[in-house]
Amino acid sequence: MPYLDHAATTPMRPEAIAAMSAQFGDVGNASSLHAAGRRARRVVEESRESIAALLGARPSDVVFTAGGTESDNLAVKGLYWSQVAKDPSRRRLLTSSIEHHALLDPLIWLAQDEGAEVVQAGVDRRGRLDLDALAEQIDLDSGSIAAISVMWANNEVGTVQPLEQVVSLAQRHGIPVHTDAVQAVGQLDVDFSASGVDAMSVSAHKLGGPTGIGAILLGREIEPVPLLHGGGQERDVRSGTLDVPAIVGFAAALDAASRDRIERNARVSALRGALIEGVRSQVPDVVLNGDERLDEAFRLPNNAHFSFPGCEGDALLLLLDAKGIECSTGSACSAGIAQPSHVLLAMGADAASARSSLRFSLGWTSTPEDVAAVVTAIGPAVERAQLAAGVGRQARS
Ligand code: PLP
Repeated sequence: MPYLDHAATTPMRPEAIAAMSAQFGDVGNASSLHAAGRRARRVVEESRESIAALLGARPSDVVFTAGGTESDNLAVKGLYWSQVAKDPSRRRLLTSSIEHHALLDPLIWLAQDEGAEVVQAGVDRRGRLDLDALAEQIDLDSGSIAAISVMWANNEVGTVQPLEQVVSLAQRHGIPVHTDAVQAVGQLDVDFSASGVDAMSVSAHKLGGPTGIGAILLGREIEPVPLLHGGGQERDVRSGTLDVPAIVGFAAALDAASRDRIERNARVSALRGALIEGVRSQVPDVVLNGDERLDEAFRLPNNAHFSFPGCEGDALLLLLDAKGIECSTGSACSAGIAQPSHVLLAMGADAASARSSLRFSLGWTSTPEDVAAVVTAIGPAVERAQLAAGVGRQARS
């Protein structure tokens, strides 16, 4: 089955499955003092050291969570609460208009329920943050800003964000920066310390590990107010018994993804190039969304995102699914109605073209056959989806 939805989740690496399988049979709470507990603790700490080394962090920076959503929630809520506790006038949170809902929705909640003022800086047509708009917001009243959060790379269109510049703007005013690096880790050269960010979200299932485990990396001075209170695990920032097999799987997957990253990116990026060319050859009016510069400085190597004029993305997805091809639409379904993606709207797309979009994301298991299957199926699928959309429009008029 051509699986082209690696950005949603990617198959587990055999190394991660083997490491987890070996661990499942072992008992031990990593907080227990007896031998079994100490054995579990050793496994956790070795995994933590390995993850930290691969991400350019210190082991003590790594706080395990249940994944990207929890890390993002902990970052924005925890940082906001800790800043407001220190200085009640620091209520502004700056972010971009293309963040994942795991970040956007806690921000909206903070604005609605906790007195935060959330400001979203726009992006250009490629989906890259407008740095001037961000700088303007910082200069407006830097003393009122609790934190800045800008993702490392976008999950829909794959655009890599100018994080270095964001950090340098923020550092001038001593404002903490968080980044959602969920799509970047495993694909890009992510170095936590070198990046200068204060907090970073990571998720294991996007890089070949299991779902339900991830981490937030926290710099020395960063102490978010916890979301979970209890046993005081993970620097008292994230209580809860540690999931030892999942942590081992996370470490093994990150190790595997780091080892073959350069070779894999070259292969995946070549396949992505063939996919773009193939789709263009079958559907001449297709629009490639995101950065047309396919270099990984600008765009994730696995991402191809298109709008198909005259189609509904959902219909197209189901037509491809019927041919065994699995991909994703850019739109979210709300009450049975496809909502255009906020990311594409922020990039200047109109609602119809945003709704006509599909994301193909490749990964470590992708093959030339997967690409060939899409190229074969896409022309007839687009014709049928256009027909269906035309019929739908006629019926409504
Ligand atoms: N942030 C980004 C950019 C993502 O792509 C995702 C997953 O789609 C998440 C956060 C949420 O991560 P998780 O599935 O681990 O909760």
